[in-house]
Amino acid sequence: MSNSNSNRNSKSDTYGSVNHNNTAIIKTDEELDIMREAGRIVAKALRKSFEALEPGISTNELDSIARGVIESENAKPAFLGLYGFPATACISINEEIVHGIPSDRKVQSGDIVTMDCGALVSGFYSDHAVSQIVGSSTHKKQKLIDITRESLTKGIDSCHIGKRVGDISNSIEKYVIDSSYELVREYVGHGIGKNLHEPPQVPNFGPSGVGVELVHGLVLAIEPMVNAGTWKTKTLDDGWTVVTEDGKLSCHFEHTVAITDNGPEILTKE
Ligand code: MG
Ligand code: MG
Repeated sequence: MSNSNSNRNSKSDTYGSVNHNNTAIIKTDEELDIMREAGRIVAKALRKSFEALEPGISTNELDSIARGVIESENAKPAFLGLYGFPATACISINEEIVHGIPSDRKVQSGDIVTMDCGALVSGFYSDHAVSQIVGSSTHKKQKLIDITRESLTKGIDSCHIGKRVGDISNSIEKYVIDSSYELVREYVGHGIGKNLHEPPQVPNFGPSGVGVELVHGLVLAIEPMVNAGTWKTKTLDDGWTVVTEDGKLSCHFEHTVAITDNGPEILTKE
């Protein structure tokens, strides 16, 4: 789940500005162990859901697979009921960027399906998102997926002690700006721990060398959202589903990443 940019500026023609506060909540090594477990479980939940992804499966069915995995691991679906969200996973298709609500809608061959999910273990959260094409793909759609996934890798590669949050933001932006795509401004990554959304915000754009300094025990959910057309978004009448303003495709990848003395550690992996 992505965090609404506190400096969001959706009505403007200019990019939303970057909010960098100086707050960060540092985790102990024992807390990092719990977050590793929360990360492992959500990674398994998404893997199992995507193994079932094929034309004709409904987003409700994908959601219940994720819920089943999380509950079988004695964890809690982190999004269920959070801010009033009614399901285990946010499932967003094609022009939907984030926060889509699972339903009876059946996915079709060629759809880009994004599942965004979290697990709660002993009071600590994980947050993870993956986009995948159903059935047969096109070069254009695959390129959007590949660039978004790689931009997350660029962001994670910047997660070293002594760097700053702005270095993560800038490395994502620098990579995506070379494509014809645009990065969503109105929703951003975030700190994560005892809350799903903690300071600092982690924008997917902005200057390097600014923001919170990266130290051992800081955990961030890094989540580039890349649009094939305009960066601008709108929210549907359901109050949740965020779509591209121009109806063009969007893609989203997210990992929960711990900053450690040994470098960045992706927690949302098996
Ligand atoms: Mg998420
Ligand atoms: Mg998130």
